[in-house]
Amino acid sequence: MNVIVLGAGLLGISSAWHLRQLGHEVTVIDRQPGAAQETSFANGGQISVSHAEPWANPSAPLKLLKWLGREDAPLLFRLRPEWLQWRWGLAFLRECTPARTAHNIRQIVNIAEFSRQTLQAVRAETGIAYDCETRGILHFYTDEDEFRQSLPAAALMRDLGCPRETIDADEVVRIEPALAGIRNKIVGGDYTATDESGDVHKFTAGLAAKCVEAGVNFRFNHTVTRLLHEGTGPAARVTGVEVIDQHGRHQVLRADSFVLATGSFSAPLVKPLGIDLLLYPGKGYSATYQVKDAERAPHVSLTDDGYKLVISRLGDRLRVAGTCEINGYTRELNPVRCEAITRRTRELFPNACDYDNPVYWTGLRPLTPSNVPYIGRTRYANLFLNTGHGTLGWTMGCGSGRAIADIVSGHRPDVDFAFTGMAKRDKTPTIVSVPVRS
Ligand SMILES: Cc1cc2nc3c(=O)[nH]c(=O)nc-3n(C[C@H](O)[C@H](O)[C@H](O)COP(=O)(O)OP(=O)(O)OC[C@H]3O[C@@H](n4cnc5c(N)ncnc54)[C@H](O)[C@@H]3O)c2cc1C
Repeated sequence: MNVIVLGAGLLGISSAWHLRQLGHEVTVIDRQPGAAQETSFANGGQISVSHAEPWANPSAPLKLLKWLGREDAPLLFRLRPEWLQWRWGLAFLRECTPARTAHNIRQIVNIAEFSRQTLQAVRAETGIAYDCETRGILHFYTDEDEFRQSLPAAALMRDLGCPRETIDADEVVRIEPALAGIRNKIVGGDYTATDESGDVHKFTAGLAAKCVEAGVNFRFNHTVTRLLHEGTGPAARVTGVEVIDQHGRHQVLRADSFVLATGSFSAPLVKPLGIDLLLYPGKGYSATYQVKDAERAPHVSLTDDGYKLVISRLGDRLRVAGTCEINGYTRELNPVRCEAITRRTRELFPNACDYDNPVYWTGLRPLTPSNVPYIGRTRYANLFLNTGHGTLGWTMGCGSGRAIADIVSGHRPDVDFAFTGMAKRDKTPTIVSVPVRS
């Protein structure tokens, strides 16, 4: 089958890789000159099944009120006269009930665990080097209340099969000695030894190169302007995509099937087809520092709960990322937010890095209100979705690519997940292991 994948971020590239593995002829289209140039460029680096709890949870509404209008708030709604933002916000509030949160956590844990195993399999198969660390993820708390409130989430993760172990402050410092300087401020933590970290851009670019070797075609510098379609009801099909290249030339590219993986820009592309994706961009920041003193910089990937920052060692660099602004498609850097990240990192690890030359970046997380992505079918028989991975696209990305490749090929993926447009399984297994594909 000929398949066109729209988007060359992690989700598009992992889809293309697995589709090719299943024997399809694959073409990837992206407006950028290479893979992973947008949100999959400089994220927090964590493969964090242990962080499956979405922002939409029972404690969120109160926190949002508290943070409203605060420039350095971890999650900031900047209210705009825009119906999509309000609709998204209302849907977000609906996802905050205990029942919805529990449902969403289960979905995310299942696809994230499947994804981590898929990532490990792809890594073993391809040998892609991406500053991967397999030392787990350590979450530390400096506020008693936050620590206490984290205990049920950690217990739920354990029930779901994710070994997120609650630990005391001494254990936190034993696992990551670079935190010794703030030992007296740490009130506790939790540690998930099976989680990982690594550079999403290096991985995605590496996998794109492997795709080329495997025969995948790429059309970079091509912007998708619209999807062409015909028929109605069960006969509705996408017939092609209209693209415009860097020289301004329009062209229509045809295929048997199409996978939409254009991240935060997915919703407007399918809206004219009557597909209403509830996706909104969530702007996040990262700062990357050159490590000066290898021993003083952490090796274990960390989550600093008080500041809602994630910290990953990427070889001789330290990546610190976090915060979310719900404020449309703007990607400009807010100096207050940038300085807050550097101030906190310097406080945690003084002299570990070159803090005078940070590389700041922003990216737009493709957020669904529940943080559960759209992976699956649409009412157009040959149009598939792999988008909306929000805060956990690196964590869920490889498995989502594998799952959509199966769905396009007419198979049910081997993971219990509420795939879009597909009936639920009869039996509900918990986390399933990923069989090696021959
Ligand atoms: C600050 C920050 C920190 C994060 N930290 C983590 C983390 O630690 N762990 C984790 O799991 N996740 C993290 N994430 C989330 C993760 O990075 C994203 O979920 C993931 O990168 C989304 O990948 P994607 O392929 O869906 O989107 P993208 O990477 O944005 O890819 C979409 C592609 O589509 C292309 N495109 C869009 N529109 C068009 C068009 N019309 N025509 C042609 N091409 C088009 C774009 O050029 C782009 O290449 C973080 C995100 C941010 C912003």
